Amino acid sequence: MRGAVIYAPRDVRFENLDDPKILQPTDAVIRTAATCVCGSDLWPYRGLEPIDEAHPMGHEYVGFVEEVGSEVTSVEPGQFVVGSFATSDNTCANCRNGWQSNCLNREFMSTCQADYVRIPQAQGTLVATDEVPDEEFWPSLLAVSDVMGTGWYAALAAEVKPGSTAVVVGDGAVGLCGVIAAKELGAERIIVMSRHEPRQRLAREFGATDIITERGEEGVARVKDLTDGIGADAVLECVGTAQAMQQALHAARPGGNVGFVGVPHEVAIDGQELFFSHVGLRGGPAPVRRYLPDLIERVMTGRIDPGKVFDLVLPLEQVAEGYRAMDERRAIKTLLKP
Ligand SMILES: [Zn+2]
Repeated sequence: MRGAVIYAPRDVRFENLDDPKILQPTDAVIRTAATCVCGSDLWPYRGLEPIDEAHPMGHEYVGFVEEVGSEVTSVEPGQFVVGSFATSDNTCANCRNGWQSNCLNREFMSTCQADYVRIPQAQGTLVATDEVPDEEFWPSLLAVSDVMGTGWYAALAAEVKPGSTAVVVGDGAVGLCGVIAAKELGAERIIVMSRHEPRQRLAREFGATDIITERGEEGVARVKDLTDGIGADAVLECVGTAQAMQQALHAARPGGNVGFVGVPHEVAIDGQELFFSHVGLRGGPAPVRRYLPDLIERVMTGRIDPGKVFDLVLPLEQVAEGYRAMDERRAIKTLLKP
């Protein structure tokens, strides 16, 4: 088969690789229907995360079950499946508590920008659709496997409720999906911090009511202007930089909550400041598996269309261009078709 391998910053190659095999009775192998490049893939691509040795890339996928191990009974060859970037047995204590992305048997997927993918813990990880969905649904189902699931978690972690005022920090695919989530969870006002016109347009299409283009403390001041001077009920931090986290913490009102899903890079939080702010904080890799059945249903009934975040579609062999386009911000998110 063929797939993406990163060698060094800005050096992603499309190569012949060994076909994945069933290694454990709990594995499945899928034939990729669609995969994509994630904002978090840009950290190593930009040299902001070390690359010790060349390795495959990709953690988002939808596909067709090709083969299953002897202990996998929940899915069968031919079915169309969606799964999270974190595998989960869905039976351990953490899974039963709803924290499948902290499964005691968790593995992070890392080889998905390829024709075929081995899925560990397939029984708990994969969710099959009722039937093979029309191809028009594939982008949104692919979004559900990571960015939509993560945006959903950000909104829940920030405790968005009917009538809430929500702020979304970050206008990447996760932030935009956070807008969808906030709207679905009943937020009345959704303020998005963005200075990129095409992203602002999509944010409004997804339900944003206000756009703030200022950053840092200036951006926080604009949030306060819109919230009677006290800040927002719920803030979704979808970037992961120190500045974005500061902005998120300062934009929340006393008693408000910040859900942070951007993978933190050099983020430090002042304990005293957090203590006196009365702001609640929860983040981490989203337990996407918990939300899959619900989000798949919302996609298949046409309630949500998160696939719109894919503004560039390329054949898988052009994966390197997919990275370049996102790095240069020519694309929000690249969908790759084997
Ligand atoms: Zn588990």
